[in-house]
Amino acid sequence: MSPALTTPVVNDVALAAATPASVSHSALFSLANKTVAITGGGRGLGITLAGAVLEAGGHVACLDILPEPAAAEWTALQKIAKASGLGLSYRRLDVTDEEALTQVFDEIDAEAAALGAPFYGCIACAGIQQKVPAIDYPQADFERIQRVNVTGTFLTAKHTARILVKNGVQGSIVLIASMSGQIANRGLTCTAYNTSKAAVQQMCRSLAQEWGQHGIRVNTLSPGYIRTAMTDDLLAAAPELEKIWMAGALLNRLGAPDDFKAPAIFLLGAGSSFMTGADLRVDGGHCASA
Ligand code: NAD
Repeated sequence: MSPALTTPVVNDVALAAATPASVSHSALFSLANKTVAITGGGRGLGITLAGAVLEAGGHVACLDILPEPAAAEWTALQKIAKASGLGLSYRRLDVTDEEALTQVFDEIDAEAAALGAPFYGCIACAGIQQKVPAIDYPQADFERIQRVNVTGTFLTAKHTARILVKNGVQGSIVLIASMSGQIANRGLTCTAYNTSKAAVQQMCRSLAQEWGQHGIRVNTLSPGYIRTAMTDDLLAAAPELEKIWMAGALLNRLGAPDDFKAPAIFLLGAGSSFMTGADLRVDGGHCASA
């Protein structure tokens, strides 16, 4: 037997209390009495994940640069929130504006405390994409993509962690990266975007290393191709891409926002309590075959 297995763990009582060994299956996927902030929560993947958090019993604060969230999806969310007695709010926010972000996160923290559902974490889903050949990529555009996708994600994680540390809450931070953080997409000239998503994956490991001491977990969720406004724009400009994407689709379909509900809830909730600094790639098998 290795020394690690025979040597008593000094703080084993604290460790046992923190593990989910005695937690029921449903509790592992529950976000009851927790408040979660979701950037990019105005449409697409973000607003779908907002629905997932509500369905898991959590309260939701959606943040997005859009003046209003997508109407049909928001009406559906309001119905779920009302039926379940859960808090749901929408605020316009540019995630690259740290002053505004600080104020908004403080407001969410105060509202969460008033609801009796402490601020517990975030899904950093805001992101932008642009297709330009690298040899022509304007510096300003390259920097704009990094500013939103990297700096905006960092500021979201930073202010989430500041509140969690202040309140002594062992929360969870989910950063939406992409399979494009690990592979170059055939047929796509998106060097700035791919660079930004690789940065988000490395940011995750670095933050996990710093914040594990507080019990705060940080993981990335890396989707493959999802049909949203972002990919609709790419396909509108280059319809031939769909054929290339389908060639790598081992399940013979592209992703839908709903495919990411369970992975996001898993990463947020107690079910993943021993997981931090990790990447969960959900890509319909795209990266599994060359
Ligand atoms: P989307 O364009 O529908 O959603 C992105 C959201 O981010 C939009 O609501 C947008 O308004 C918001 N946003 C952009 N800049 C912002 C800013 N400065 N401040 C606040 N909000 C801002 O696209 P989506 O497909 O739903 O993308 C969501 C996330 O998923 C992104 O991070 C994207 O990179 C990632 N992703 C998407 C795909 C895909 O195939 N669609 C694949 C992998 C990863």
